[in-house]
Amino acid sequence: MTLFTSEHFDDHEQVVFASDATTGLKAIIAIHNTNRGPALGGCRMWAYDSEEAAIADVLRLSRGMTYKNALANLPWGGGKSVIIADAVSDKTPAMMEAMGVAVERLNGRYIVAEDVGTTPEDMVEIDKATDHVRGVKGKGFDPSPATAYGCFAGIKASVKERLGRSDLEGIRVAVQGLGHVGYDLAHQLREAGADLVVADLNENAIAKARNELGAKVVARDAIHAEDVDVFAPCALGAVINDETVGALKAKIVAGSANNQLAADRHGQALADRGILYAPDYVINAGGVIHIYHEGPNYDKQRAFAHVGEIADTLAEIYDRAAKAKVPTHVAADRLAEERFGKRA
Ligand code: NAD
Repeated sequence: MTLFTSEHFDDHEQVVFASDATTGLKAIIAIHNTNRGPALGGCRMWAYDSEEAAIADVLRLSRGMTYKNALANLPWGGGKSVIIADAVSDKTPAMMEAMGVAVERLNGRYIVAEDVGTTPEDMVEIDKATDHVRGVKGKGFDPSPATAYGCFAGIKASVKERLGRSDLEGIRVAVQGLGHVGYDLAHQLREAGADLVVADLNENAIAKARNELGAKVVARDAIHAEDVDVFAPCALGAVINDETVGALKAKIVAGSANNQLAADRHGQALADRGILYAPDYVINAGGVIHIYHEGPNYDKQRAFAHVGEIADTLAEIYDRAAKAKVPTHVAADRLAEERFGKRA
């Protein structure tokens, strides 16, 4: 097992291994950096092949949250947790409550929320043992509308930067994936006058987009190559890869999907082709920003105004990338590091 020598370690402040014999809980909580405040990040449940794989994943994800929270202007650091278990066959309410006990032992240095394999219902169980949980069913709020709004604001900022336009009238956008975020985003784009091309596996979502939004429907394996202004990946990760990057006709890539670049070199390839890339973890931060605002004093206007700042952050990143002649994902990382005070 490697921790300090892991390629993902990157000066993590604290890594906690938590177990509970009664419920079978085996969890790792990673706190990457708390310079900006307590570490917020979701709890992933996954049947990892090995402990090494779980450690690598939690370190990688935790570090990513430091960058995401910093660029979202949140008073939070970055952390993440993983439970080594199958979310379908192993999960029990008691196991989730035991996870809450493990979180509570960190006295608020880590704040947990849902992630792949956990749900708002699971947060109810965690909530029984700790106050340091967000997105609890019945107390939390759906983050997807805020994520969609953040993407909309980010697309507008990107169109302004790359096409010199302050409106979206007649702008052609290809939306890949019409789920919780993608459909809402497509709706907002249409309202703003954009023309839509869409793809999804879900026939109902496709029919709705065709009928309600006047969208042109194309094949799933062809949408990235559509002749559009903006390609908005809102389904899968790694969609900008060796096979797709050369086929893109869009001048902008901006959407909600996590980990859009299969590798860093694809960010460079986009820049080389003059395609403006809105770094995914910046443009899709609306959900985490919304989580920050949830609670008894929730004010929708204030929360969405904060989400709208994603446009300003992207504008700053684009400006810095142009001045430093680096791809936008590199400029984003550098700005994040300034904001959380990464040690040189
Ligand atoms: P979702 O599961 O509701 O929607 C995903 C949609 O993509 C589904 O309609 C699915 O049928 C479709 N899809 C799957 N494979 C496809 C393919 N090959 N081609 C086209 N469509 C395909 O998910 P979501 O909540 O809308 O999130 C979308 C993306 O945004 C994910 O990558 C997610 O990690 C990311 N994200 C979401 C949020 C949020 O608040 N929901 C926040 C940050 C990031």
